Amino acid sequence: MPKSPHKPHKPASETALIRRIRSRVAGSGATGLSLGIGDDCALLRLRKGEEFAVTTDLSIAGRHFLPDLHPPEVVGHRTLARGLSDLAAMGARPVAAFLSLGLPREMTMTRGTGKAWVERFYDGLLALAAEYRTPLAGGDLAESPVTLADIVLVGAVPIGKALLRSGARVGDGLYVTGNLGGAAAGLAELKQWNRQRAGAAVPRRLATRLAPHFYPQPRVAQGLWLRRKGVATAAIDLSDGLSTDLEHLCEESGVAAEVDASLLPLHPSASLEEALHGGEDYELLFTAAENARVPRAIGGVPVTRIGRIARRRAGTPAVMMRTQKGVEPLAPAGWQHFQ
Ligand SMILES: [Mg+2]
Repeated sequence: MPKSPHKPHKPASETALIRRIRSRVAGSGATGLSLGIGDDCALLRLRKGEEFAVTTDLSIAGRHFLPDLHPPEVVGHRTLARGLSDLAAMGARPVAAFLSLGLPREMTMTRGTGKAWVERFYDGLLALAAEYRTPLAGGDLAESPVTLADIVLVGAVPIGKALLRSGARVGDGLYVTGNLGGAAAGLAELKQWNRQRAGAAVPRRLATRLAPHFYPQPRVAQGLWLRRKGVATAAIDLSDGLSTDLEHLCEESGVAAEVDASLLPLHPSASLEEALHGGEDYELLFTAAENARVPRAIGGVPVTRIGRIARRRAGTPAVMMRTQKGVEPLAPAGWQHFQ
């Protein structure tokens, strides 16, 4: 019987998939990895006087990304970026990443002539991993009713020197890296486009404009710089939105904060609301003593003073915002992912 040119697509076997991933991960030039994928455990090495910084993030289809709207490369990039951003906020250097993927059977198959979703997911994730010299050192794969990616990032930081949320003091200046609201503005634009053009792939020109949402850049170099120079008294990364993350920092430090709306570095296409509550910008929010020398940019990324740390008074909101109308409470209204 002649072979049909239209064989049904078979799901990649788990072993074959792992072999392909492993071949792509090999030789990623890591410094803290003694043994990567292939044995029962990875072996990680600390430098003298360091401790581990470990963070984990779960990304679930429909909750943290939308499979119809987010290209697989974008999902892969964002999965790793979230973890790297947490390391950045602690001033830790990335050592290794561990990824567990749950995939519905159809996600392991190619549609038409393209690569399977999972291969494109790794394209996005491994490109960012290479940029930040973070080897993928292990993980797991399983069939799952819903697509999900659970990532663990291991970093290293000199013992006792990690940047914490709890170090802010009354009188400190409040600073942010980069600009704010670009991710939320991009998501809004993506959703608007989707309402008009259901089904079609995201066009390249739109994807470029959506870069802050699709390809956020974790501020690893900036976090390392702040920690090494001893400039920051406290830090957090902006994953949920300035209003929410600043409240977290104030809670942990036992202080209040006043943001000056006129000082906020808005992304060119973002509204004030998106900058305050949008989330997923993955910039660093940090505090520094009043007399600290805070540069205007770190590693080419602008740094902007946006307010100050004040005394916490019982019964008053932790975060206030100064506008032309005066000083008003800024309630934490961080963006709820895809709700
Ligand atoms: Mg964080």
